[in-house]
Amino acid sequence: MKTNSILHIGFDDTDSRMGMCTTFLAYKIVEYLKKEGVKFLDYPYLIRFNPNIPWKTRGNGAVALKVKTDKPEQIKKNIVQFIKKYSEIRDGANPGVVFYQNEKIPLHFNEFGRQALCSLINRNKVKKFVSKNGLDSFYLGNGQGLVGAVGAIGYEFDDYTYELISYRKESNFGKKREIFKDSVKKMQDLTYPNTFNSFDEDKNRILIAPHGPDPVFFGIRGEDIDSVIRGKALVRSPEKFDGYMIFKTNQGTGAHLKSELDVHNLKPFSSGYVTGRVSSVPKVAIGGHVIFSMTKDDQQVRCAVYRPTGLTKIASKLIKGDLIKIGGGIRKATKIHQRILNVEFLQVLRLEKNLKAFNPICDVCQKRTKSKGKNQNFECVKCKKAFPSKIFEEIPREIECKLYLPGLSAHRHLTRPMQRIGRLNNKVEFDWSKKWFHVHKSGNIRNQKPEIKISA
Ligand SMILES: [Zn+2]
Repeated sequence: MKTNSILHIGFDDTDSRMGMCTTFLAYKIVEYLKKEGVKFLDYPYLIRFNPNIPWKTRGNGAVALKVKTDKPEQIKKNIVQFIKKYSEIRDGANPGVVFYQNEKIPLHFNEFGRQALCSLINRNKVKKFVSKNGLDSFYLGNGQGLVGAVGAIGYEFDDYTYELISYRKESNFGKKREIFKDSVKKMQDLTYPNTFNSFDEDKNRILIAPHGPDPVFFGIRGEDIDSVIRGKALVRSPEKFDGYMIFKTNQGTGAHLKSELDVHNLKPFSSGYVTGRVSSVPKVAIGGHVIFSMTKDDQQVRCAVYRPTGLTKIASKLIKGDLIKIGGGIRKATKIHQRILNVEFLQVLRLEKNLKAFNPICDVCQKRTKSKGKNQNFECVKCKKAFPSKIFEEIPREIECKLYLPGLSAHRHLTRPMQRIGRLNNKVEFDWSKKWFHVHKSGNIRNQKPEIKISA
């Protein structure tokens, strides 16, 4: 008698600059698993990990699947074949796949997922984790992909969004994508705020399509399954895509910036936030970037606001004493630069009064007075009347106590958009009847002979 096992499948780092992409591999694997008749227990997860690590592939995204099957061994074997076929190891991909066969995910897996989100995990640590837990796994290259593979299985959502990713027909890979701009704009108008980051009104730019040679046609991000499907239907293009898959994802949740960084031990490539007071006047550096320092617990933290974020104007108006909360990642120190926090959001919590000191004006002659020297009186230039101290005038501040985010085009996958502030999705159950996976019948994938030897 065969028993049904619950199988968690995690994989990562199969993509490369030249074209392949982890989510496309997931689409192919799900297509295969559907043919095998496995039961899906949740939507596929697309987990974005720490965007501030040095060797990330484009989006540092890993995928996890949760299925019920009576033939786990056969499925594992075949998925490894998919990884082998669809990974571009010659172009620097270091793919990894991990299988965990159990219903419940243990706490130390969750902890691993949390660490992969905010810090740098080296491949030796994950290899130890895999062997210690007796996990079936497979990797190519240096095995860095195992980090995301374990992390995605262990990832615990306290908030999530969805992304519907549509894929191109293979015959169109590498060709220019044609998507009608007006349709994307209209789609955003009709579905916002249940979809997000589709169109940048300020820059008149489509945000749903990548520019590279990868198989992704476009992606619609949103709050629920129905909204992303509706969004997809509103996007117009002369190109027919192959099919689509909807992922449950931590995109748009800001999850990597939720923990406070330890200012006494700022680890390179870690992500989080720091609350403190501005302690040096912001300076504009070469390239238009703005650099300043903040202080927390007598510890100084250097902060860099890069020009593409669109936050430099705001940052340059900070003054000493402002209480701020900064989210971002720690850049490693170089020979010339010390460790620095790359700013991903800037929240002004309290503005210091900007007081400018003037010499007092003589109340008799209306003339400005002159200082007689340090710690001495001020004296009227005409009648010599003495005044004890400077007078202060308050200069109006040009920034407000609020949260400032980068422009839409500079958002990272994980950036929590303004309209998602305070919003949490964590109660929706998996609904197998929703059309979360779809391959068009006319698509060439069905007709194409799989080159993978499927063992039965
Ligand atoms: Zn006077």
